[in-house]
Amino acid sequence: MSQPDGQNNTLDNLLSESRTFPPSAEFAAQANATAEWYDQAAADREAFWADQASRLHWDTQWDQVLDWSQAPFAKWFVGGRLNVAYNCVDRHVEAGHGDRVAIHWEGEPGDSRRITYADLQREVSKTANALAELGVGSGDRVAIYLPMLPEAVFSMLACARLGALHSVVFGGFSAEALRSRVNDAEAKVVITCDGQYRRGKPMPLKANVDEAVKDTPSVEHVLVVQRTGEDVSWNSGLDMWWHEVVDRQSENHTPETFDSEHPLFILYTSGTTGKPKGILHTSGGFLTQAAYTHDVVFDLKPDSDVYWCTADIGWVTGHTYIVYGPLANGASQVIYEGTPNTPHEGRHWEIVAKYGVSLYYTAPTTIRTFMKWGADIPAQYDLSTLRVLGTVGEPINPEAWMWYREHIGGGTAPIVDTWWQTETGAIMISPLPGVTAAKPGSAQTPLPGISVKVVDENGTEVGAGGGGLLVLDKPWPGMLRGIWGDDQRYRETYWSRFAEQGYYFAGDGAKYDEDGDLWLLGRVDDVMNVSGHRISTTEVESALVSHDTVAEAAVVGASDPTTGEGIVAFVILRGGAGEQAGGDQAVTALREHVAREIGPIAKPRQIMVVPELPKTRSGKIMRRLLRDVAENREIGDVSTLADSSVMDQISAGLNTSS
Ligand code: ATP
Ligand code: MG
Repeated sequence: MSQPDGQNNTLDNLLSESRTFPPSAEFAAQANATAEWYDQAAADREAFWADQASRLHWDTQWDQVLDWSQAPFAKWFVGGRLNVAYNCVDRHVEAGHGDRVAIHWEGEPGDSRRITYADLQREVSKTANALAELGVGSGDRVAIYLPMLPEAVFSMLACARLGALHSVVFGGFSAEALRSRVNDAEAKVVITCDGQYRRGKPMPLKANVDEAVKDTPSVEHVLVVQRTGEDVSWNSGLDMWWHEVVDRQSENHTPETFDSEHPLFILYTSGTTGKPKGILHTSGGFLTQAAYTHDVVFDLKPDSDVYWCTADIGWVTGHTYIVYGPLANGASQVIYEGTPNTPHEGRHWEIVAKYGVSLYYTAPTTIRTFMKWGADIPAQYDLSTLRVLGTVGEPINPEAWMWYREHIGGGTAPIVDTWWQTETGAIMISPLPGVTAAKPGSAQTPLPGISVKVVDENGTEVGAGGGGLLVLDKPWPGMLRGIWGDDQRYRETYWSRFAEQGYYFAGDGAKYDEDGDLWLLGRVDDVMNVSGHRISTTEVESALVSHDTVAEAAVVGASDPTTGEGIVAFVILRGGAGEQAGGDQAVTALREHVAREIGPIAKPRQIMVVPELPKTRSGKIMRRLLRDVAENREIGDVSTLADSSVMDQISAGLNTSS
């Protein structure tokens, strides 16, 4: 992004991939979306989105599909009115599906809850009545600081029902992270719990809230769910037990109706590229795109599929693909509280077998972790119900993709590699499982109704085989409506780079291959410049992961006196490989492997074998911290890491393995 003037900003196009996997005739014949959808959407985009909006129940029909006259602030389905929670819950009960399971909740210690749509309607109504009693109404903000409990879903939907905005703060964040988010949104109520189960142990959570609310003047009440039963300190001016306030409420609550553009939630981005931004989403357009994409990308059949998205609710994937998309579509889904290796490394597959999960959505980092644990683990379980597999969060390395298909998908399940962002609200680029001949590592094609371009630094579109910057050149229904309280930052961050063309700049690098398929290449900030070649960290990582001994790899550019930047790689070796490797020989072999896979220019200057990589809770590698290591600097802010001890482990082991 910060290239000196005149320097070519286009990425060099390195890796090539020729394997393709068309859907089976059988799958294609029953698929929800067909190839014609692309043509229909291209012929009349607004008519296409109007059709998608009719998936929802509108109390008042809109009179205009899109108003872009105040760009970059969009209005979708102008004049329409609806209640988002009614669409996700009540209408399914009214349609006779009250007995259908909405949530198969699985606790980490092995307890479980089965929540039907009728149950969900009662729980959401009680929660809405309780929040109303606490003074929450339309336009108020509620912070939700909860782990993966059903109450998190009830709370989000109760806010939607009342027209209040939720701001979900990931339960692994510190008191300080919570405090800054509560204050930024000026939340009136915080919903939390006593503690959460993590890796088999109860961990306190409320203590962080106690710490945070010492300095949050807007907070009037803290509503506390009892989960672990551990002792908590009690702040009698603020705190109330969920079971005392919610349980006594009426099970009936009449949803109000809100404008299509009524705010639905604020969610802070994961902060890999700077201070988290409070992304604002609204109602009608967001829910339309959530429901549409969840239906066509996962090929959902609501009365027979069991869907499972492993994301945390504190991440946008948990919002769109645990709460709003699946519930708007009347899906039955699994929600799991815990970690994938508690009490054993087969836990996910045990859950798939227990509930007959058919649609499974996870992150590349989780897949690489499963690879590291070994294919013999999933092989012990019946995974035959799985029929669509999804990934999100990072580019997926082709070898991880192949492993996923082979060892989880039985060699047949289509994989959907879904590119999107907190800001886009919902999936933008993804194969359609019954249409697209899938290609390992490529997100391939914008969905019907979505328009993207790959451009050079002047905003000129690059052709097949070219690389550059990903932009969204047309507004879409689920798009963010701004950054909470900071319109100026909204314009600057997303709309200033290509102001002339009016493009949204996503911040990611991308390329087209010779077939015109799209490859996402990670953040533009992570692109390296080696002797004048712009090389994506993702491609070098994928080359490393394609070696038998490597489970995970992270690559950074470290300043280098001769080449500008030198490639430094951090690798985790696969189960068992650690003992034999580590030595100079293994490292030499890996450097040669990269040279063979993509060319000598991409050969890492240095490869370090490490036990872990620094990741955010959504599974993204924090390359800026590894750059600190590679450049021998003091390590920067680790507060949004999933495990903040990882950087110490890396530093401790380094002297021996470089
Ligand atoms: P911040 O903007 O604060 O740094 P963040 O961008 O990590 O946070 P998210 O909105 O969760 O927060 O992440 C979106 C980013 O994740 C995308 O811009 C892209 O870099 C990456 N991403 C998501 N899905 C994919 C995918 N399928 N392929 C490649 N990259 C992906
Ligand atoms: Mg981002």
